[in-house]
Amino acid sequence: MNKWITGELHTHTIASDGSFTFSSLLQQAKMENIDLLAITDHNVFHSIDDIEKLEQQYNIDIISGMEWTTFYGHLVILGMNKYLDWRTMSPNQIDQRLSKMKKQDVVLGIAHPFRVGGPLATGCHWEYDIQNWSNIDYIEVWSYLNPHTSAASKRAFEFWISKLDEGEFITAIYGRDWHRVEDMKGKVTGKNYILVNDSCYKTSTLSALRSGKVVVSIGPLIKFNLIDVNNIDIGQRWVTNKIMTTFKCSIENTSITSDMQLTLLSNKGVIFSAAAESYISSDLSIENINWVIAILKQNDDIVAFTNPIYISRGE
Ligand SMILES: [Zn+2]
Ligand SMILES: [Zn+2]
Repeated sequence: MNKWITGELHTHTIASDGSFTFSSLLQQAKMENIDLLAITDHNVFHSIDDIEKLEQQYNIDIISGMEWTTFYGHLVILGMNKYLDWRTMSPNQIDQRLSKMKKQDVVLGIAHPFRVGGPLATGCHWEYDIQNWSNIDYIEVWSYLNPHTSAASKRAFEFWISKLDEGEFITAIYGRDWHRVEDMKGKVTGKNYILVNDSCYKTSTLSALRSGKVVVSIGPLIKFNLIDVNNIDIGQRWVTNKIMTTFKCSIENTSITSDMQLTLLSNKGVIFSAAAESYISSDLSIENINWVIAILKQNDDIVAFTNPIYISRGE
């Protein structure tokens, strides 16, 4: 049975440079009704025993993670069961090292690729020259605070779209890079809606991150499907010879305002646009379309966007 949950996938505690204890982080997450959390301290691995104790104590699912923090970029590693050493690496070995890490069955995500770091936070900007993008499961296309308006998020969004156009399968997510509560005062934070398919949120979130079953938003959830015999969900790779289909989008009514637009963006540019409504369905030509996402906009700002439905030709 499919279900939407919310997950925050980039957090820090006092084990690295956050101000949260485990307990204050988990209490805060509970207050925000977050269903699943990843703890991703800089170059610190928390033992699975510790994580399991916290899960029981706070009744929240926690993915064990780490932010691999280097001079040339930050990489979030999720779902590992041991410390992955990062110290002996030079930038020209990046593909080799990512391939080696992937063999441990972890999920790899590039953190805040276009953030300009402060003088004491080196390496925030992603500089590694990756050749083999199939090692990367996701990019934090939205990051930190006010992600819908930040210049770094806009650049990351363009970068992600260019990778989709090159034929890569890369999931977009939001990473709050959550260090302390005070930072959030008066600021907007984003959220990830994750489509999970069983009661183990952790396993199903890791697979949702690999395939792209995530909607990134500052509030509303957009449900976007193409209709074949069954619904085709985001993250799905649909093999078809059809050139026409029907799409449907639903958005919670209470979050829609009259200045919002729903747009479908693809490798062929914008293929549908209309004033946002709680339910929109229309015929859609998918000739030469390889990927399509739904975007909810308010004026020029993106309020929410889905990951792609990928389309390829064949029976
Ligand atoms: Zn970082
Ligand atoms: Zn971080």
